[in-house]
Amino acid sequence: MKTIAVDMDGVLANCIQQFINYEFAETGIKRPIAETIGKRESEAFPNGRAYLYQPGFFRTMPVIEDSREALYKLCQEYEVLIVSAATEFPQSLSEKQEWLNEHFPFISWKQMVFCGTKTMIKADIMIDDHFKNLDPFKGRTILFTQPHNQLADAGRHTRVHSWKEIERLLLRKSQLEAIWDMERASAPVTPVISQYA
Ligand SMILES: [Mg+2]
Repeated sequence: MKTIAVDMDGVLANCIQQFINYEFAETGIKRPIAETIGKRESEAFPNGRAYLYQPGFFRTMPVIEDSREALYKLCQEYEVLIVSAATEFPQSLSEKQEWLNEHFPFISWKQMVFCGTKTMIKADIMIDDHFKNLDPFKGRTILFTQPHNQLADAGRHTRVHSWKEIERLLLRKSQLEAIWDMERASAPVTPVISQYA
């Protein structure tokens, strides 16, 4: 079974929308997404760095469209690991785990890899929105389109614009047609007690 390393921010979690929401709450001005195209977050949102330190920023991110259904299907054919940088903003670590448990209850704690740099990650496929993570990766690389990377040449990476595109790229026809078992995917998570606890 092949392994896929899936990023969170900008791939599962809609962090651009979250920045827009926080900026709107602070200033009353709703920045159009078009204004953020081709800009790093720090350029697009002058006060953005402060939002990253606010409790709840990572916990309340909107979910990117179609990601739950697609990831659930991928889990039937691949070993899926959620690989997310979570040590720069310390509160993000627990918030990201809670967020995954809420929105992706079919992802177990064993599939969550919270790290600093991603350069040590080994897998067959990586899905990410940042070149800094995809460029050093040895396997197949999928660039998830976000405003900050939208104008860049994808180079050797395969650019996708949606989770529907990822489904078409990585799933067999039989899996594409599989019925999305919402009830099962939304089942409450049974807490697993770590053997190392
Ligand atoms: Mg990302």
